[in-house]
Amino acid sequence: MTAAKTWNQEEYWGLGYDFDPQWTLTPAQQQLQAELIELCAKVLRPQAIESDRGLVYPRRNFEALASLGLLGLFVPKEWGGLGESHTCAAMVVETIARYGCPSTAMCYTMHLGATAAALFRAHQSPVLQNLLKRLDADVLIGTLSYSDPETGSHFWYPVSSRARQVGESWEVFKKASWTTSAGFADWYIVQTTSPEFDGNYSDLSCFLIFKEEVKAEPHKWDALGLRGNQSGTLLVDGVTVPLDRMVGPKGDGTASNDEIVDPFFLLCSSACWNGIAMGAIDIAKRHVTRKKHVDVGMRVADYPTIQDYFGEAIIDTNACRMFTFSMGKLMDDLTNDCDWSIHADLTALPRSVHLPWYWQIKFAAAKNVAHVCDKMLHACGGSGFKKDMEIERYLRDGKAGWVMGPTNEVLRQFVGKLALLGFESLDYWNQSVNERVLHNELKKLDADGKRRLAEQLLAEAASAEAPVPQKVLATSAV
Ligand SMILES: Cc1cc2nc3c(=O)[nH]c(=O)nc-3n(C[C@H](O)[C@H](O)[C@H](O)COP(=O)(O)OP(=O)(O)OC[C@H]3O[C@@H](n4cnc5c(N)ncnc54)[C@H](O)[C@@H]3O)c2cc1C
Repeated sequence: MTAAKTWNQEEYWGLGYDFDPQWTLTPAQQQLQAELIELCAKVLRPQAIESDRGLVYPRRNFEALASLGLLGLFVPKEWGGLGESHTCAAMVVETIARYGCPSTAMCYTMHLGATAAALFRAHQSPVLQNLLKRLDADVLIGTLSYSDPETGSHFWYPVSSRARQVGESWEVFKKASWTTSAGFADWYIVQTTSPEFDGNYSDLSCFLIFKEEVKAEPHKWDALGLRGNQSGTLLVDGVTVPLDRMVGPKGDGTASNDEIVDPFFLLCSSACWNGIAMGAIDIAKRHVTRKKHVDVGMRVADYPTIQDYFGEAIIDTNACRMFTFSMGKLMDDLTNDCDWSIHADLTALPRSVHLPWYWQIKFAAAKNVAHVCDKMLHACGGSGFKKDMEIERYLRDGKAGWVMGPTNEVLRQFVGKLALLGFESLDYWNQSVNERVLHNELKKLDADGKRRLAEQLLAEAASAEAPVPQKVLATSAV
């Protein structure tokens, strides 16, 4: 039988382990979870309040996580990490979000995504191995810098970024509109179009960039929720880095996205939204079981309406948790429990086959957290509206779920379109022509309009086929 859940060595005041899917965890993972809950009580939760009020980056929480070896959670044991699994990663992120600090959980999600992107291509890379071996000892926080100011939440489309080879170096230019931990992280995985880019935006490459090579603007960060997350702009302004800072081979960006960045981000961020939902249920339980109405001699928890709120919130959230943990288990099964040595074969991409399932867990978790936090606030009445109960912070933090890319609008459309029209219809990089739309629009033109359009198209085709003078080529590469 699982021991009782504790908080500062006393019985936990929220829901106990009987509402947690403990059977998805090994005994060692359950032990880690219990230690992490205590760390949340002592360090992470007080810091969450400070981060939210003062927009403070939660580095102190990362130092605490490093004391449990959690920065190298799935770094192999022979490199000094915990050698843990995808399921464990989901549990750790959920635990940090629920009992500790949602901002830290999101920064940690990005750290795990960046760590996974590095581990994916570390086999032949002393520079990546050296970094991965020092994550906990030196508290080296990583993050992912993908989103582009020109393409919004289509983060796989970095039109404002590029790279080129200059002698024995890469010159990297990255302009990012959002990067969690921007300016606070010690290392960044950034994505640009590949060197020798020829207009094909699916040709992407990844680079390892260090703190002193980026320009960030943390003073501009101010947001509704996840206020410690500091997801500001980031500029890598034509920085020259050695050739071994390319992560994986040239053009590996799409494989890295589909196999690593999407699966890890969607798994861990789903766990974050589920943790926030559970955290709101915990806080609300504490309040409604204590608050009494003297006139009717009842506690708030004694009203059937309130009981219904909790029943529905727990059932819906546990459905999302089981969905998320089942994807973690699938990823474990596909990779011999997150054995990175399978990627010594660069063509091994077992996680990416299930991409539509990662989209679904994120949609469900991000949709659920907003609803559950809303209902838990209702259950707490006016008291929940005040800051000291903390439930309004969970509500604000949970709101980030829906809008973070891939946004829930994009995800539900991906899934629906895929189911109805097939994979090609998703057209990530705007490459395939929708003949139905094209012909329907052309039908609306009269003969004159058609002629004018035809002339314009012929001129454009001629200019596209004209040879480019050598001098222009040399300058347009930057
Ligand atoms: C707290 C937080 C942390 C973040 N951290 C990071 C990070 O670490 N790294 C990183 O790279 N990015 C990060 N992001 C950025 C995030 O992934 C998105 O890129 C960003 O939220 C998009 O914002 P936008 O204003 O450009 O939205 P827009 O893309 O302009 O979206 C506006 C609206 O249009 C909808 N929309 C967009 N495209 C479509 C479509 N094809 N079909 C239907 N509707 C569509 C959206 O769903 C939304 O409703 C973070 C964002 C947040 C909120």
